[in-house]
Amino acid sequence: MKLLNDPWFTVEEIDATTFAISEYGHWEKVHSFLLIGTERAALIDTGFGIANIKRITDQLTNLPIVVITTHVHADHIGGHGLYDTILVHQAEADWLENGIKGLPIEQIRYDIGRDITKPTPKEFNSATYTPYKGKPTAILSDGELIDLGDRLLTIFHTPGHSPGHVSILDNDREYLFTGDLLYLDTPIYAFYPTTDPVELLNSLERISYLQVEKIYGSHNTLGIDPGIFFEVQEAVYNLRMKDVVRHGTGLHKFKSFSIRF
Ligand SMILES: [Zn+2]
Ligand SMILES: [Zn+2]
Repeated sequence: MKLLNDPWFTVEEIDATTFAISEYGHWEKVHSFLLIGTERAALIDTGFGIANIKRITDQLTNLPIVVITTHVHADHIGGHGLYDTILVHQAEADWLENGIKGLPIEQIRYDIGRDITKPTPKEFNSATYTPYKGKPTAILSDGELIDLGDRLLTIFHTPGHSPGHVSILDNDREYLFTGDLLYLDTPIYAFYPTTDPVELLNSLERISYLQVEKIYGSHNTLGIDPGIFFEVQEAVYNLRMKDVVRHGTGLHKFKSFSIRF
């Protein structure tokens, strides 16, 4: 079901109090997620910042919003400045405040500005685009519980794609939000210097034993059936057996997902 006719964002209802807010007009097809409890709502990431995501969340809830950062890459923190409460894992608090050292702004601007298939707001200009920087309001840690009011989330520290990457389990509905740790259609990135292939596999292995109803990655096809976890376990086993779990071993393809080391 699609709702809220917006020129940039596509809003899809996962259930009555869970929404995917997607940017299909950009080649990275990024999703942010709004989870509404009885006392507050959680916004998992805030997209590119190409358009104002708050105009969407304002239409979906009046409750205070807590932003949970899966990780500090430009496509996940673009709208952070629109919200008051920002949570991030300790390992990326410095990136949030000061940016990622060694990642040239020209690269970020090139990636955000190319292959856009929908009209962007007048305010957006990829040539001057600057990723959000700011102090987090609180630090997330592994195993932490976040209570939205009749809706409990568990934070899992799942490093590999980035050092402070987290995945979020909605305990009641058994949805797992996997950020850039697991998604379909395009390779999972673990080839940058700031990635860690060994940790990525440890994280994939860890989440693959969770009991879940549905998995939501941050890019591409929305919603993944948990049957993929068997494939993940087999992939992890095979990559370790073949001794290719390090940078530079290239693209590794499996039936429904792929990883680039
Ligand atoms: Zn990322
Ligand atoms: Zn991403």
